[in-house]
Amino acid sequence: MLDWVIIGGGIHGVHMAVRLIAEAGVVPERLLIVDPAERLLDSWLRCTSNTGMRFLRSPAVHHLDLDPYALLRFAGKARKRFARPYNRPAVDLFAEHCDHVLDKYGLRARHCAARVAEVELDCDSARVRLDDGDELSARNVVLAMGSADAPRWPEWAAELRSQGADVQHVFESGIVLDPARSPRRVAVVGGGISAAQVALRLSDAGRQVHMISRHAARVHQFDSDPGWMGPKNLRGFQRVGDLGKRRELITQARHAGSMPAAVDKALRRAVSSQQLELHLGEVTAATAGPELTLMLADAAIVVDAVVLATGFSGERPGGPLIDKLIADHSLPCASCGYPVVDAHLRWHPRLFVTGPLAELRVGPVSRNIAGARHAGVRILGALRG
Ligand SMILES: Cc1cc2nc3c(=O)[nH]c(=O)nc-3n(C[C@H](O)[C@H](O)[C@H](O)COP(=O)(O)OP(=O)(O)OC[C@H]3O[C@@H](n4cnc5c(N)ncnc54)[C@H](O)[C@@H]3O)c2cc1C
Repeated sequence: MLDWVIIGGGIHGVHMAVRLIAEAGVVPERLLIVDPAERLLDSWLRCTSNTGMRFLRSPAVHHLDLDPYALLRFAGKARKRFARPYNRPAVDLFAEHCDHVLDKYGLRARHCAARVAEVELDCDSARVRLDDGDELSARNVVLAMGSADAPRWPEWAAELRSQGADVQHVFESGIVLDPARSPRRVAVVGGGISAAQVALRLSDAGRQVHMISRHAARVHQFDSDPGWMGPKNLRGFQRVGDLGKRRELITQARHAGSMPAAVDKALRRAVSSQQLELHLGEVTAATAGPELTLMLADAAIVVDAVVLATGFSGERPGGPLIDKLIADHSLPCASCGYPVVDAHLRWHPRLFVTGPLAELRVGPVSRNIAGARHAGVRILGALRG
């Protein structure tokens, strides 16, 4: 019998394991992180590398270890590995620090590379069935599934792909975006930071890039106001009892499809020097022949390949596994389908949530690194009684 099984080995699952070991004194051997990838943090490493982003969007105090200043200390004197504003760490520095954290807490040995197929809960334990047929027993389970398994695919793009066209999603599992091997003419679809970064990356590699965005640039440093990281906004949010209203507040607070000023500036510079073409509009139809034609209201764009940077579907993560848990144990959900959990993110005496599943408690930053840290603090609070 394990003490903890964490389902999902992304930023959230790994940070939760760190908290349990370093703060709650859980013996590492009594904890497992189950995630189908060959390595922990696979989705983070793949997505950040595919976009070509050089610095995180969030500040240096948001990372996987406990002490907020751990990453700054880890970097030592390497000041140029942080970007202004807000002391944002370089992606490769953050990855080195993640490696250091995985080693420090012995987490690689606690990774079980499998997918959880089913969870059954009793009053004092949980049974976790894996897709290879094995079964684990644990006193507690944390659901730390993120959105990684559900990149958003517009219908026309899925249709093109089914016809064998070269269409990829930048966040798709197993996709390694290599600009040097990309065809000559590429459409990048999306209007936020990742679309801009991918378009710039491909154009730097000499590709003829058409970026297609449904909207003009929405310039915001962060994907929600920093007030949502602390009591300034969260106090009011917690006081809202109506969960439909909380969902509305989350949607309003998120700057969906936005990008920081520096990325906007780089994009505008590339457009004005004709390194890439920016089209404002929506693809209404697409055809595949020897080349791909994407129809906009006022243009037809002809390319050899399409890269989608259209984010993740807004669906509740976890799919049938979560549907069954809800049905078997009558777990409470809001009308948006997301878990109704207590202040310690407990959905059942044996079950906790973090990441998107915790957002009706943690608020708009729930999916971010800051959200992982908030969730860790809340779940640890449950252990103190
Ligand atoms: C390109 C990019 C840049 C970002 N930059 C920042 C940033 O600078 N700062 C910031 O705060 N946030 C950032 N974010 C947002 C957020 O921090 C990341 O998306 C983060 O990776 C989310 O982590 P996660 O653990 O919730 O989810 P994921 O990384 O999606 O990990 C969840 C894991 O759970 C696994 N899983 C799902 N179902 C099962 C199952 N049944 N059994 C076992 N495992 C399962 C999945 O396979 C996956 O590996 C960024 C996101 C992206 C995409």
